[in-house]
Amino acid sequence: MSFLEEIQKRRTFGIISHPDAGKTTLTEKLLLFGGAIQEAGAVKNNKIKKGATSDFMEIERQRGISVATSVLAFIYKDKKINILDTPGHKDFAEDTFRTLTAVDSVIVVIDVAKGVEEQTEKLVEVCRMRKIPMIVFINKLDREGKDAFDLLDEVEQKLGLKVTPLSFPIGMGYDFKGIYNIWEKKLNIFSGDNKQTISEGVEFDDIDNPELDKIVGENSANTLREELELVNEVYPDFDQEAYVNGDLQPVFFGSALNNFGVKELLDCFIDIAPNPQPKQAEERLVDSKEEKLTGFVFKIHANMDPKHRDRLAFVKIVSGTFKRNTPYLHVRNGKKVKFSSPNAFFAEKKEIVEESFPGDIVGLHDTGNFKIGDTLTEGEQLNFKGIPSFSPEHFRYVNNADPMKAKQLYKGLDQLMDEGVAQLFTLDMNGRRIIGTVGALQYEVIQYRLEHEYGAKCSYENIAVHKACWVEPEDPKNEEFKEFKRVKQRYLAKDKQGQLVFLADSPFTIQMTQSKYPTVKLHFTSEF
Ligand code: GDP
Repeated sequence: MSFLEEIQKRRTFGIISHPDAGKTTLTEKLLLFGGAIQEAGAVKNNKIKKGATSDFMEIERQRGISVATSVLAFIYKDKKINILDTPGHKDFAEDTFRTLTAVDSVIVVIDVAKGVEEQTEKLVEVCRMRKIPMIVFINKLDREGKDAFDLLDEVEQKLGLKVTPLSFPIGMGYDFKGIYNIWEKKLNIFSGDNKQTISEGVEFDDIDNPELDKIVGENSANTLREELELVNEVYPDFDQEAYVNGDLQPVFFGSALNNFGVKELLDCFIDIAPNPQPKQAEERLVDSKEEKLTGFVFKIHANMDPKHRDRLAFVKIVSGTFKRNTPYLHVRNGKKVKFSSPNAFFAEKKEIVEESFPGDIVGLHDTGNFKIGDTLTEGEQLNFKGIPSFSPEHFRYVNNADPMKAKQLYKGLDQLMDEGVAQLFTLDMNGRRIIGTVGALQYEVIQYRLEHEYGAKCSYENIAVHKACWVEPEDPKNEEFKEFKRVKQRYLAKDKQGQLVFLADSPFTIQMTQSKYPTVKLHFTSEF
């Protein structure tokens, strides 16, 4: 197979949703179609369950599972499909944001009864900003839920999307009769008892065909005809280019649990979803069809075995062919590195591979040289963009609780930050370290991992910080910036990249600071 064909057959995407909307169930059903797993229930759930074990112990247990589910790859109808796992728990939202830099499209799962939920809004906003093509899957149609048109409205309004349904439900909950597949002009009848089996659709080019009345009953048939007419009037026709540009989002309905509507989703997905897309680097736009290898690290999994500081860096291949035992340039540290056992991922296992292509994810064993965002090339000085840090929500001083282990503590903190567990800020004034996280859970994780992986102990101390604002002066030499630095001295810190950050204690402070120093811009993400 030629290099171009390899690229064209790849579909790398993520599934995003609010917890419990059905992401795990849908993933599992997709894998079943790919023959990647044999039975339902095979995909281990890496959700964090509240229960007898404390949360951070649970996270430790899950960390083992989540290496295996980080990338789920399978072949379906000659397409190589890579699903990148995204944690649903909101404390790990930053992980999900980073993973979204490595996908070429996403599927958004929405619960028909709950509609658009908080996590969905946040994640979709990131996809929208990045113009990632999205398909919406409305799930749990076997249950009573919101009216289909109301839901489409809600999706447009709350998520700021422009939708067009490519399938439409006939009834819902108790009355759920099936789904009309607008994309393929096919009718699929739902029968509750053929759960898990793949139902065959009835072709229905003309929905005025009286056969429809026989199959679903006259009332339902007429309602469907009216609704499809409305769909036709209200929503634009599907347009491939608009979808790929992030300007139009097709919508499917179904029930993941009953494996209903999932095949339609998958068949359409492999037709319309984009193959590996060009990616913007600071220096230039890199096309996937370029022959020379480029790729970037979007995730690091560390210390699965604390005895060997082993880490696995996940690299998305952007262009070229990644080859085993071939030296590549690690752009940030300027060194050539080669990898004797790069891993490829399959549904339930990882294996050493000789070659990987654009769209693929390779797992590279690493002893601490990689950070999230690092770029690999064949020699070109290139830095991929788009892995920003967001302002954390929680801030605490971190103190060394065992003076004999200072070195271990700093090394541990350093590596955990490289992994993206949290963000470290160092105060300009006195060099004290502050850890910022998205969720409170991470503090326990950090404490636990420092102790178990690095033999270091830390304690925390509260600090009143509302948000970290990255500072961008219009003119670093002007008086205003000098005054800002003098007045705010106690609240200024550096992030790990050495960028200047203002730790504001309240929204009011941010507002006041912005109006007092209009030439000093404050940003809530590290990339601007
Ligand atoms: P996730 O948190 O988004 O990964 O959600 P899960 O896939 O774990 O699903 C959450 C719950 O919803 C589980 O109890 C599933 O069995 C259930 N569920 C998923 N899909 C459906 C569906 O189509 N119909 C019904 N009735 N329940 C579903």
